[in-house]
This record gives sequence, structure tokens and C-alpha cells, in this order.
Amino acid sequence: MSEYPKVTREEFIKGVGNTPLIKIESLSKETGREIYTKAEFLNSGKSIKDRAAIYLLNNALSKGLIRPGGTLVEATAGNTGVALALLARTYDPPFKIRLYVPESLVQAKIDILESLGATVIKCPLVPSDDPEFFNTQAVNYAQKNDNCVHVNQMDNLENRKAHFETTGPEIWKQTGGKIDAFIVGCGTGGTFSGVSSYLKEISNGKVKAFIADREGSGLHSYIQSKGDNWDHEGESFVEGVGKLSLTGNLNDVLSIADGSFRALDIDVIITLYRLLDEDHLSVGASGAMNIFCAKQLALTLPKGSVVVTSTADSGERYAGKVFNKEWLVEKGH
Ligand code: PMP
Repeated sequence: MSEYPKVTREEFIKGVGNTPLIKIESLSKETGREIYTKAEFLNSGKSIKDRAAIYLLNNALSKGLIRPGGTLVEATAGNTGVALALLARTYDPPFKIRLYVPESLVQAKIDILESLGATVIKCPLVPSDDPEFFNTQAVNYAQKNDNCVHVNQMDNLENRKAHFETTGPEIWKQTGGKIDAFIVGCGTGGTFSGVSSYLKEISNGKVKAFIADREGSGLHSYIQSKGDNWDHEGESFVEGVGKLSLTGNLNDVLSIADGSFRALDIDVIITLYRLLDEDHLSVGASGAMNIFCAKQLALTLPKGSVVVTSTADSGERYAGKVFNKEWLVEKGH
């Protein structure tokens, strides 16, 4: 049994997008700037990845790359897998789902994926040129099997298109065009590049775009050094974001990003608890990272500025880590 109600494809799609834009009252008051987050955990599949999954699957179907009953293969930190698995079962016959995930993935996400009928293969954390690398394993499997497609959220530009056509316009409408900056972390980079390029286009370049990054990722360094290096140190529990190389969806990041900010794990944890206590808001780790970085960015802008970020999923998925005392002690927090 899964926590998700069985819905038709129309019902699933109707529940994706048009998510609320929530004002973070605590940090807005503290900074004298307006800080908002897009509540993406309110999509049908409870994460932002529903948007990309719909575009990616429609694209594979319209190109004739796959027929219902076939297998969708993907390398994912979980949320895309959930979105694909929920969509898959709205087809007759349903698609099969085969997911390659990092072995560090929080068990709650693996349980959800398996309860939705997906086959989950845990992969070691190895460099991208190692044959065991999760994305490489997904590509190889899809190549060797019939009626099977590698969804490829990293490089398929339908991913950023989903955000250019839905998330970006929603933010513009919800702020009434009164927005100074957008900031978000990058996993595939679809959210960052899709939303940022839409907001820049519609505002004639007035809206600035920034990247939020975590410990152990080189993206902050890459942006700060204007593409010179991927310096990084440490490691992080924040799932779904952080990069050591560019993806197809991020290949023009240097021309879109106006800067970047970084959150340490301890900043993320403090922000998570603060949002719960003061704003009664339960966000996932990457959402807290985004909101911490949004606050840092807001402080560099004039008073009254409007900064928008997004919350990819909610805190419930991370109970085994940040809301577990043993885990906090073990990690030195
Ligand atoms: N946060 C979480 C929890 C995610 O699963 C993802 C998707 N990898 C992201 C943030 C980043 O979104 P994107 O892939 O659009 O960069």
C-alpha cells in the first residue's frame, strides 16, 4: 500500500502546478525584505518533480520512444521516481519503472518507490566516469532492452521547459511582476534554468537569478570562479541538489546566474527547525537550504526587495535524519 490515492491521469495532472507562494514571515520580518517560497510539496506527487515528469513522459510518448507497458528507466534522488511511478500506473497497461538511486538515499523514499511498484537499484557514490555511476547504469539498461527509455531528466531539455512554461509564469503572476530575484538549488538544474530564463525574459532582464548550493557541491565555486573550478569540500545530507559537473539542463548556467550562495548543513538544520517553530512550515532539506540562501541573498538587496525561492518537497520524508536525535548526534549537530 502506498500513501498516494489511486487517481486517473487527468486527476494527477490537474493536481500539478498552481502551487501557493508562501511568505516566510519570520525571515521577512527579520530582514526587512519579502521572502517567499513556492510550495511544491502540494503537487499531486508531493514534489516539484511532477512538473518535469509530465513533460518528459509526454515527450517520450510523442516521439514514439516508448509504448504503455514498456519500462521507464531513470537515475533519481527519489522525487522524480515517485512522479514517474504515479504517472506510470495511470496507463493501461501501466509502465514499469526501474530506478537507479544513490545508496545514501533516505529509506523513506525507497519505501515509497517500492510501494508504488518501482524496481529500485541502490548505486555506490562513484565519479561519473565509473561504470557503476547511477546515470551510466540507467543508460546501459535502457540501451539493452526493448520498449524501454532512459527518461534522462539531467540532459533532456523538456525538464527545464516544464518550468519555463509553468513554474516561471506562476511566480510572475503570483507576485504581480513585483519580484527582484529568484534563487534555487540545482539537481538537474531544470527548476533553476527554466524559471530563471522565463523571469528574465518577461522582465527584460530586471529579475536576477541566483543559485543556492550545499556543502560538498562544486557549483557555488563554479559560479564564483566564472567557470574556472569545481572546488568543494565536506559532504552533506541535503538530497536532490548539488553538482560536481554540468548537466544538459544547466549548460548555459554561467550566462543565466547572477551569483550564488552556500548553506552549511548546520544552517539547513537550524532553518528547518526555525521554519517549523516560527512559520509552522515543514519543508524538506533542499527547501530549507533554499530559504537560508534566499535570506543571505535578500540581505544584499535594498530593503523591501522581493526574493522568491522554491520548496521541492516537505519535511516528512526526512524524519529518519533531521528529526532523529541519534542521527543529529552521530553527525555532530
Ligand atoms: N530538491 C529535491 C528534494 C529534489 O529531489 C530535486 C530534484 N533533483 C531538487 C531539489 C532540484 O530540482 P531540479 O532537478 O529541478 O534542479
